[in-house]
Amino acid sequence: MHPDFPRHGNLFRRFSTPWIKCLSRFSGIFHTVEKSARFFHAMENFFAFFPRYGKKACPASAGFSTPWKTSPHALSCVPAFPVFLLTVLPAFLLFHLTGCSPGPRDAALHGRTMGTTYSIRIARPPLTRQEWRALQADVDAVLDELNRQMSAWRPDSEISRFNRAGVNEPVAVSADFAHVVRRALDLAAATDGALDPTVGALVNLWGFGPDGLRRDAPPPDAIAAARKTTGWRHLTLSPDGRLSKAVPGLQLDLGAVAKGHGVDRVAALLRDRGLEHFLVEIGGETLAEGLNADGEPWRVGILRPDQSGHLHGVLSLTGGRAVATSGDYRQFFRDSDGRIRSHIIDPRTAAPAGHAVASVSVLADDSLTADALATALLVLGPDDGLRILRGGFPGTEALWILHSPGGGFEEASTRSFVSTARYHLGSGPR
Ligand code: AMP
Ligand code: MG
Repeated sequence: MHPDFPRHGNLFRRFSTPWIKCLSRFSGIFHTVEKSARFFHAMENFFAFFPRYGKKACPASAGFSTPWKTSPHALSCVPAFPVFLLTVLPAFLLFHLTGCSPGPRDAALHGRTMGTTYSIRIARPPLTRQEWRALQADVDAVLDELNRQMSAWRPDSEISRFNRAGVNEPVAVSADFAHVVRRALDLAAATDGALDPTVGALVNLWGFGPDGLRRDAPPPDAIAAARKTTGWRHLTLSPDGRLSKAVPGLQLDLGAVAKGHGVDRVAALLRDRGLEHFLVEIGGETLAEGLNADGEPWRVGILRPDQSGHLHGVLSLTGGRAVATSGDYRQFFRDSDGRIRSHIIDPRTAAPAGHAVASVSVLADDSLTADALATALLVLGPDDGLRILRGGFPGTEALWILHSPGGGFEEASTRSFVSTARYHLGSGPR
């Protein structure tokens, strides 16, 4: 089943705004072109009738989408194909000859950052080609800067420099990096340490850090040794931005919050440029501002937490709200007992979070908070997670997708998750 998507044809609207202004100079042609636009609309529905051609949800761990609804009248347009040749093609030629061109409905930027991909969609972008190129360069510059600060994979990053530092040896860090560490420490306190930015040594030991993969659980003495190096209370950040560790070997890991912070930074950049309608996504952490090109809240798909690539559900997002998803289905190995061992470490046990939660999606007012809480709530599970949210995070909503004992999935959520996000179940290919 596809989610409920706007029924009206997009091409007709495309014809009805900037094109129409241009067409007013050729009033006799307008009627023909309007008809052609309607015909194109019918063709859209025709193609949407076949899943292969219908518009699909965009890929992301919480992918975004405006798939098209299939039309019950889809086939009625087929005999009209000759009309297409006689009307739309001449109209297109005319536009090109007169220098008229349509404004795009929405435009996208894509790239790679933080070991994953990012994408940005801007509805009806009011940008020239030059401004667009400048925006891409500015986005890449912001994301490169974040990589230079927070990538544990880069030996020259600020985080790697700190991780090599000795005990009680303060390291001066940039203001942006200090801001992220401060937020991570506050969220560690607020989640009873379920989010712990000092789990780096354990993440590495379990095979999910820069040191490479493993295929079975590490020996208990190695776990005990790595555990001694962790604990957010052993990390201090002075007011002037100097970071120090109180136990030897402490390794900072900002993987649980860096993508969310990147989304917030890019969203701030887009707002600075005067943009009001956009969707920003890094590795599935997503923030939506304004409305999509159809004048509706952006639709964000939540992936089914398995290898199918299918959507589990769809939610509506707008008003600068963010959604982030953490799960056990992307980065994991099965140990010799067949247990899923995912990249999210439960700091209480020094082992991958081991319960029935397959994924958690969190809605919050900024992406860093959503990202941090998704990781923490995966560790905590629904009972403790609900308690933490009620206690300290008003307006923040969460959805847990749980492995059901008989196979398949079950859901648990905060009371308002469904109504706030207009969330509904959806399945099938994204
Ligand atoms: P996310 O995909 O946002 O849930 O972040 C997962 C990443 O955060 C992992 O790959 C680790 O680098 C790091 N991480 C794992 N467990 C924790 C934890 N309990 N607290 C903070 N960071 C963690
Ligand atoms: Mg996270």
